[in-house]
Amino acid sequence: MTLPTLTIDLTAIRSNWRALDKLSGAAETGAAVKADAYGLGFAPVARALYAEGCRSFFVATLSEGLALRDILPDATIHILNGTDTNGAADTRAASLRPCLNSPAQVAAWRKAGGGPCALQLDSGMSRLGVQPADIPALIVGEAATLAQVTLIMSHLACADEPEHPQNEDQRSHFAAHLATLRPHAPNARASLAATGGTLLGPAYHHDLVRCGIGLYGGLPFWEAEPVVTLTTPAIQIRDVPIGTTVGYGADWTANRPSRIATLPLGYADGVHRAISNNSTVYINGKAAPVAGRVSMDLITIDVTDFPNFGENDPVEIIGPTRSIDALAADASTIGYELLTALGTRYERRYKGA
Ligand SMILES: *Cc1c(COP(=O)(O)O)cnc(C)c1O
Repeated sequence: MTLPTLTIDLTAIRSNWRALDKLSGAAETGAAVKADAYGLGFAPVARALYAEGCRSFFVATLSEGLALRDILPDATIHILNGTDTNGAADTRAASLRPCLNSPAQVAAWRKAGGGPCALQLDSGMSRLGVQPADIPALIVGEAATLAQVTLIMSHLACADEPEHPQNEDQRSHFAAHLATLRPHAPNARASLAATGGTLLGPAYHHDLVRCGIGLYGGLPFWEAEPVVTLTTPAIQIRDVPIGTTVGYGADWTANRPSRIATLPLGYADGVHRAISNNSTVYINGKAAPVAGRVSMDLITIDVTDFPNFGENDPVEIIGPTRSIDALAADASTIGYELLTALGTRYERRYKGA
């Protein structure tokens, strides 16, 4: 049976990297490829970015770092979640650089033998990173480790809202902590911006930007080239009389003689249940409403206004007419969550591999 097809355009990812690299000026443009490159496939995406010139990569966990090291023997690979006493030796052996997030992580790295690493500061997001109050003790007690720090970084909480006052707040806190640490970490470059911060302008670029979502065609990078296309055939089409209900909970009722098509994908494939009765898919660029609740493996749509639609005609879930952010908005979420939720059951095709 024909499966829904997820097409990932590697040429578009490369061109988005080039566009962000241009925007970031003299700063190096690194790539966030955590969570299987935002669901799009770690190996092909990382190889494409490397081929385009990207040399610094960011993943969340040690296992992601080890997998990426196998693919890219020469890249600089950072582990955003840092390390601990269990993971430090393997991190070191694979020449991965942990983003040390606390005095305990700094100590664990030192005890494992140390080496090139990043230091992540909390500049106001209160999520991950060394607290400002801990900096003086690090300067006194961890001088040798600080000398090995190659990157001092922090992360912005509101970069997708350019007018948000917290952006400037975090920027100035980061600058102040950087000034305190610099004399003790002479080998460190600085990094504050992800995609959103890159778009905020040169004051946020420092030496390295860490772009994720913009590479994959998502907001806040409005000018991104779309990367993902998701299309599917139908597996059944039926005519139903007025008053017929469709799907779980009998939540949709035909108010005219209707034609219902059933698509072979559902919330287990990352099409959120929240779009039930509340979204559209596209046939030849024209909207067809989702009719009834999204189930685990199936979605029903109303194709009454598409009398010529047949089972083998492609239905666009994501693509030129339907951005990841538009679909995500119907599910009250963001493009990031939509991409990382895409399941493993699609037929995946890579363009430009
Ligand atoms: C995920 C992440 C990034 C990339 O963020 P985007 O918004 O996808 O560009 C950069 N830095 C850190 C610390 C992250 O967690």
